[in-house]
Amino acid sequence: MANVVVIGAGLGGLPAAYELRHLLPSEHTVTLVSEQSEFTFIPGLIQVAFNLKPLAQVQLGLAQLAHRHHLNWVPGKVTALDPAHQRLTVEGQETIAYDYLLIATGASLAWDWIPGTGPHGGYTHSVCTPDHALEARQAWLAFLENPGPIVVGAAPGAGCFGPAYEFALIADQELRRRGLRHQAPITYVTPEPYAGHLGVSGVKNARELTAELMQKRGIEVIDNATIAAVEPQAVTLADGRQLPFDYAMILPAFQGAQFIRAVPGLGDEKGFIPILPTQRHPQFANIYAAGVSVKLAQPDVTSVPIGLPKSGQMAEAMATAAAHNIAVDLKAINANPQVPTLEALCFA
Ligand SMILES: Cc1cc2nc3c(=O)[nH]c(=O)nc-3n(C[C@H](O)[C@H](O)[C@H](O)COP(=O)(O)OP(=O)(O)OC[C@H]3O[C@@H](n4cnc5c(N)ncnc54)[C@H](O)[C@@H]3O)c2cc1C
Repeated sequence: MANVVVIGAGLGGLPAAYELRHLLPSEHTVTLVSEQSEFTFIPGLIQVAFNLKPLAQVQLGLAQLAHRHHLNWVPGKVTALDPAHQRLTVEGQETIAYDYLLIATGASLAWDWIPGTGPHGGYTHSVCTPDHALEARQAWLAFLENPGPIVVGAAPGAGCFGPAYEFALIADQELRRRGLRHQAPITYVTPEPYAGHLGVSGVKNARELTAELMQKRGIEVIDNATIAAVEPQAVTLADGRQLPFDYAMILPAFQGAQFIRAVPGLGDEKGFIPILPTQRHPQFANIYAAGVSVKLAQPDVTSVPIGLPKSGQMAEAMATAAAHNIAVDLKAINANPQVPTLEALCFA
């Protein structure tokens, strides 16, 4: 009888837990640990920030889902992992022993790399978490009362650019709808080598289409940009340029969760977990990883560092392959190990 523990109940962890429960006989336990009591469809948070959707419409209660799917649900944040003794610590609770571990903890947001970024202690908004989206919405509604310049973009080292484009384009649309666009110039500032690179070079005609779209919408693009710091109403670039704003939304660089960074050999220098093609860790044979927490190297050399985007579909493909391969390891199914295809299909 094994206890298979999944950490993180996002777009990777939740499907992984479902798949494990589906594949493993009932003598095995599937434990789902998450610091959030809701599953959040993160792509929907942009619409929450623009007050186009209530937060509740992009969330599902995990306690009910876990009950319905016969999962052992443990709410709480994992603060420590001891691979040698196959145990993990959940904040304020006892340790949990595991036979297999699947880490799907997504991104930890690297606000401290750029002074002044982020909604907590900084001056820029974010749509990466539910509480950030709610704060961004409150500020957006106040901004509409007295619009001014908007800066949208991504910090150096970021790998997730699609949401920044989506944010800039929805801002444009919402301001036009209200007849306010002439009061709010929009600047898109990015470490990408060109608009439409999206962290993956050579995607068909993305470059031409994006340039055309941004021009048509009157959004100024600054590419190859390194945001060096943000003050209360201005973004400062490394070349000294200042971009004044009344509203800014900057996506940060991502890193792995703190508990991953604390275990020697588990993650790389940023806390992303190296994996074999089967999603298994190369050294820790009973640890698998899926989604944004996984190390995927950016093959392009760019003048400003960027990461590789990890889409929701990739997270789910990795997670279901990892679940399948754990079931193979446990001899619950008689099948060959699976290797996920990581074609970057976008969910939203
Ligand atoms: C604003 C935005 C828009 C996006 N839009 C799209 C889109 O349109 N299409 C698309 O395909 N992709 C999109 N993405 C990317 C997509 O959201 C991710 O690929 C996907 O969420 C990754 O899934 P994951 O399971 O790795 O991480 P997540 O979905 O982030 O889930 C990780 C979970 O782990 C939990 N967790 C973290 N640390 C701990 C801990 N120590 N203990 C316990 N729990 C922990 C977190 O709270 C979270 O619930 C978007 C991303 C953002 C930020």
